Amino acid sequence: MFIGHFAVGFAAKRVAPRLSLAALFAAAQLADVMWPVLVGLGIEQVRIDPGNTAFTPLDFVSYPYSHSLVFLSLWGVMFGLICARIIHDRRIVVIAASLVVSHWVLDWITHRPDMPLYPGSIKLGLGLWNSIPATIAVEVAMFAAGVWTYARATRARDASGRWAFAAFVGLLLVIYFANIGSPPPNITAVVIVGIAGTVVLILWAWWFDRHRTALI
Ligand SMILES: [Zn+2]
Repeated sequence: MFIGHFAVGFAAKRVAPRLSLAALFAAAQLADVMWPVLVGLGIEQVRIDPGNTAFTPLDFVSYPYSHSLVFLSLWGVMFGLICARIIHDRRIVVIAASLVVSHWVLDWITHRPDMPLYPGSIKLGLGLWNSIPATIAVEVAMFAAGVWTYARATRARDASGRWAFAAFVGLLLVIYFANIGSPPPNITAVVIVGIAGTVVLILWAWWFDRHRTALI
């Protein structure tokens, strides 16, 4: 899942208005923030395998530290504690940790059975990715609901708050549809695009979120 994770981050602004959208995205996407780094270091493995599922040409051979339920719960609590320290609100721990763990739940729905509970465990996955139309229907509906929730929970203070937000939403949709089924040239490209893409998107979100006021 890709834009579905951003949908959850957008929607979370309503329950965590004091936390930057950048932090909400980083939480919902923490698994995919760590994953390209761990793949680049050779700690986790992925293979290019066109047709692995209809939706993705990637075979997630092993990713127990970035994508197992146990490790994501651990990272979630740590991430939540950091957020709580930054905004001086301990209630945020549960929200931030839930966002991190939501990544596992959404990937479990979309992936074929390759999602571990803990390193070495059985692997689970409901395989939504076996159908491109079903994947698009679910993710686009989630994304629309998330964007709508964020747009209603905040108000643009200036042109940056309005247009950088709109451009971000448009860009995510373009990336999403442009990537369906097209295999990357090699794993190095997956790692570089994964790391650089996440950094750019999170900084971008931090920027336009600063130009919007939370209404709650
Ligand atoms: Zn993931």
